[in-house]
Amino acid sequence: MSGSEQSPPHVPYKMEYEITTAQGQKKWVLEMGQGVYDSDGQIEALEGIILDITDRKKFENHLQYMNEHDPLTGLYNREYLENLLTEDGNQNGNPKRALIGINLSTLHLLTAQYGFHYSQGVVKKVAETLEECCHRDCQLFKTYEYRFVFYLKNYHGLAGLEEFCREVIQVLETIIKAERVGGVIGALEIQGDDQTEADLLLKRLLITTEKSIDLFDRDLKICFYDQSFEEAILREEKIIGHLARIGEGEERESLFLCYQPIFDVTSDQICSFEALARLRLEELGMIPPFEFIPLAEKTKLIDPIGWTIIREAFGFIQEAQTRGLGKIKISINISAIQLIQEDFSSRLLEMIHEMEVEPTQVILEITESVFSGDYEEINRILGKLRKQGLFIAIDDFGTGYSSLARERELDVDCLKIDKYFIDKLLETEPDKAITGGIISMAHKLGHCTIAEGVEQEIQKKYLVEQGCDMLQGYLIGKPMDLESALKLLEKESV
Ligand code: C2E
Ligand code: CA
Ligand code: CA
Repeated sequence: MSGSEQSPPHVPYKMEYEITTAQGQKKWVLEMGQGVYDSDGQIEALEGIILDITDRKKFENHLQYMNEHDPLTGLYNREYLENLLTEDGNQNGNPKRALIGINLSTLHLLTAQYGFHYSQGVVKKVAETLEECCHRDCQLFKTYEYRFVFYLKNYHGLAGLEEFCREVIQVLETIIKAERVGGVIGALEIQGDDQTEADLLLKRLLITTEKSIDLFDRDLKICFYDQSFEEAILREEKIIGHLARIGEGEERESLFLCYQPIFDVTSDQICSFEALARLRLEELGMIPPFEFIPLAEKTKLIDPIGWTIIREAFGFIQEAQTRGLGKIKISINISAIQLIQEDFSSRLLEMIHEMEVEPTQVILEITESVFSGDYEEINRILGKLRKQGLFIAIDDFGTGYSSLARERELDVDCLKIDKYFIDKLLETEPDKAITGGIISMAHKLGHCTIAEGVEQEIQKKYLVEQGCDMLQGYLIGKPMDLESALKLLEKESV
């Protein structure tokens, strides 16, 4: 180097590297030092120290492992996947990329039934099984408690993705059948402008796998991401917001009841009304119960809202009595989530007492799916209420979970035969036989029957012939407001 040129700054150096000792042991060392320069600025020696940092390195590696992996399964976790997605998204000339999410959140039911260790054991087994689907362009992650994600590259279009999902269903089949749970497999192709938005991509995947999850399903469904899901989620969030306020006693006018008459064949009179909830929101208009009830159930808001409904339904009985229309009965739909609350029966009996309603005026409608849980416990609750004089009906009978044979074990009074079987009466002769069969079977088991969705005289005629006890449907009357329901009763009593 010529004297006129500036010599480089004398910087100290520091580096970490792995060595193998003379004994063949692997060690990590930190070397720190600086050069010793001669008068020309040339390095003539190095001075410094070398430290054994093997322990520190182990600890760091452990921390990094914990940061990037799921401790139960050893799979890479959500953070790792997020980083990977961002990194890949930033690269040019990306291959085709897609995410397949597996939502097995219903496995949490196993925790309640058999304990935490059991459900965790199942999760581990699922992880091992899913790994069978991995290949060079496919990695598996565990992103959350009961959720897994495959990250695929270079797949063969949508058909390829669907084929992959079917393969996943196939490998999981044994576990799903053995544990009697279900789940959703969601597929999302990574394309367009959002390639680097890992968080957004994972949110979309979550929406896809969450959308059609059903606590009572016993199989795996495949669902592909669709942009409309996001709008649907936005609407859901709005409705849930209103439900939460209603649950807190605000916005009371948005939630109200309609009453649909139920006709008693023997006495040839209206014997009761079913209370049907309605939600009218200023910003979204009328929301059908098929939309808001499942949301209220999912968020457990059905508990406070359910009590508001019960109170209002009892108010209907009181009003009928005040107007001298006798002791009318009211049928109230009760969600499983509300029914299994610890204090449900005592609170209900308290309200019955407080509002001076007679227990025999109250019919609780529950769906068969209730019994897919701890059915002995459910029977205990129902038994207690029946002893007090309440009437229990199984709603939508025939479509749900339990078989007719199982009905024998249920502590209930009445089966509400689903509209499906009443519609069948408009079809061919052999189909009619099923409906008649249900009625006679119910009677043999000591249950009475209500037919739902009776719309035509021809259905009524058949049902009466077959000995069906009660009828409900547009033929008898559509759901109506309180005033119209009371007027109908008044007309009957003259
Ligand atoms: P559901 O208990 O099976 O109620 C019967 C549904 O069938 C009602 O719909 C009723 O309006 C309709 N319906 C009655 N007769 C006929 C007919 O002849 N033809 C036709 N096509 N339909 C008929 P809605 O009011 O929309 O209620 C839907 C579901 O929402 C109910 O089914 C029930 O599962 C749930 N639901 C309603 N109110 C409540 C509530 O207060 N609490 C809970 N947990 N669920 C409720
Ligand atoms: Ca019902
Ligand atoms: Ca029904």
